[in-house]
This record gives sequence, structure tokens and C-alpha cells, in this order.
Amino acid sequence: MPIYAYRAREVEGGCTVCSDTFEVTHGMDEPRLEACPKCGQPVQRIISGVNVVQGHVMGEGLSRERLKKSGLRKMVRGDDGQYHDDTPK
Ligand SMILES: [Zn+2]
Repeated sequence: MPIYAYRAREVEGGCTVCSDTFEVTHGMDEPRLEACPKCGQPVQRIISGVNVVQGHVMGEGLSRERLKKSGLRKMVRGDDGQYHDDTPK
């Protein structure tokens, strides 16, 4: 499944997840994420092609090791429709 990067529209009001860029995996046919799965703050999708994180090429996906280094949060949508924090510890 494709990985999308999101960030809060108002970074100052965001929580630990959305005040920085985080990644969400969801199908292309699913609606884009409108709010932070943790705090409900409105989020925007980081447009592909923007250099979000150094060395991060959109659409390529990140290995868990690179994800860890980049400091990104990874949110994964479960079967129950809820997003879970799947950031490697
Ligand atoms: Zn948040």
C-alpha cells in the first residue's frame, strides 16, 4: 500500500505525532486523512515531490531503519478503521 506523509496545518497546535511529519499507509481508493489520528487536529498531506525529510523519496517508502533515523512517526490503519502508532521503537 502507498505511504503518505502528513503534517498538522497549524504545527504549533499539533501533538507529538502531527507537529512533525508522520506517515500513514492507506489505499489509494481510501479518502485522505483529514485529521490527526491522535489529537484530531486538521492535517494536510505533504505533496509528493517536496523534500520532506532529507533523502526521503516519496513513494519509495522507508525501511524501518530509515524511518527510525528520520524521526518520523508511522501510523497504520488497522482492520477496525483506527490508526495505530507503528513507529519502530
Ligand atoms: Zn496530533
